[in-house]
Amino acid sequence: MERVYLSSPHMGGTELKYIQEAFESNWISPVGPNIAAFENDLALYTGRAHAAALTSGTAAIHLALIILGVTAGDEVMCSSFTFAGTCNPIVYQGAHPVFVDSEEDTWNMDPELLRKGIEDRIKSGKQPKAIIVVHLYGMPAKMDLIMNIAREFDIPVIEDAAEGLGASYNGQKLGSFGDLSILSFNGNKIITTSGGGALLSDNKEYIDKAKFLATQARDNAPHYEHSSIGYNYRLSNISAGIGRGQMEVLEQRVKRKREIFEYYKNELSDVDNIQFLSEPEKCFSNRWLTTILVTGENGEKVKDNVRILLENNNIESRPLWKPMHMQPVFQGSKAYLNGISQKLFEIGLCLPSGSNMIEEDLVRTIDLIKECF
Ligand SMILES: *Cc1c(COP(=O)(O)O)cnc(C)c1O
Repeated sequence: MERVYLSSPHMGGTELKYIQEAFESNWISPVGPNIAAFENDLALYTGRAHAAALTSGTAAIHLALIILGVTAGDEVMCSSFTFAGTCNPIVYQGAHPVFVDSEEDTWNMDPELLRKGIEDRIKSGKQPKAIIVVHLYGMPAKMDLIMNIAREFDIPVIEDAAEGLGASYNGQKLGSFGDLSILSFNGNKIITTSGGGALLSDNKEYIDKAKFLATQARDNAPHYEHSSIGYNYRLSNISAGIGRGQMEVLEQRVKRKREIFEYYKNELSDVDNIQFLSEPEKCFSNRWLTTILVTGENGEKVKDNVRILLENNNIESRPLWKPMHMQPVFQGSKAYLNGISQKLFEIGLCLPSGSNMIEEDLVRTIDLIKECF
């Protein structure tokens, strides 16, 4: 049996045309027409004024922090329930993440806990420099509540929409909230450029600065003149060509991901101890990955059994993200906790959700899951 992946790259068909153009015009470089066109596609789709195509989502978060002036010793409020790429760049800057736990209905940053954390940090004499809020598995965080708190305390927001392209909150596309937003086009994301990311903002200065910093911060001179430290973070014109093709099928991908979620949900509805995450009011998820919670007394054990049985049948599944406050590398970090993300990690599983999965793969996966209950 061929391996079934969690979410593998799914080309739309026109990607090669844009790559071909890059070869024919010899723009085999981090400069070229595909880059500007891809940036334009991203801005248009999300409703942002400006975009910078970069080598990764992690690089985009790093530049966002630099642009907001986060430096050594600063504190940044950050979702704990996420992938390490969200918070590693805080440490690149010599700053400290302050983790905030999840709420039950979206699994994303709990607004009330965020408020408590900010008030507590201010009381100890430190105004947080930024807030990084994540939309996990494509489910939107409660952006109206979070933005209100951010404004109240005058703290800028970086929206980590790496998993959220195609989703929306209150009718507004993810990737358009906060001061700066980031996207990822890594191989397993809803669309991919093999590897890549983007920084989005309505502030032109921010995006101009991102492009400057991403190309080694070269000043305007005939020779190479530098008055600040730069990075090599620009996306290549080849990868941007893949991105242009992928943008043409993004809506189809979202539709298919949502169908896969519904399929699992319907077929497993008679299993008592499996719970799905439904969409709260105002939330439209892209269902990047279908996730389940295995409830009941032995939930954690049964969840492991499901994963192992699937793996023995060459089907990939994966526990939910291990919260950052539980990671050895962030042991000493401050965290405002309510136990929710830890519990989700213990009993949660991501099911194979590739938009290129065939019905037969879904049926086989579902039959094996049922065997465990
Ligand atoms: C993938 C991901 C990132 C990092 O993106 P890369 O392109 O892999 O660097 C950041 N945050 C979240 C939530 C992600 O899923």
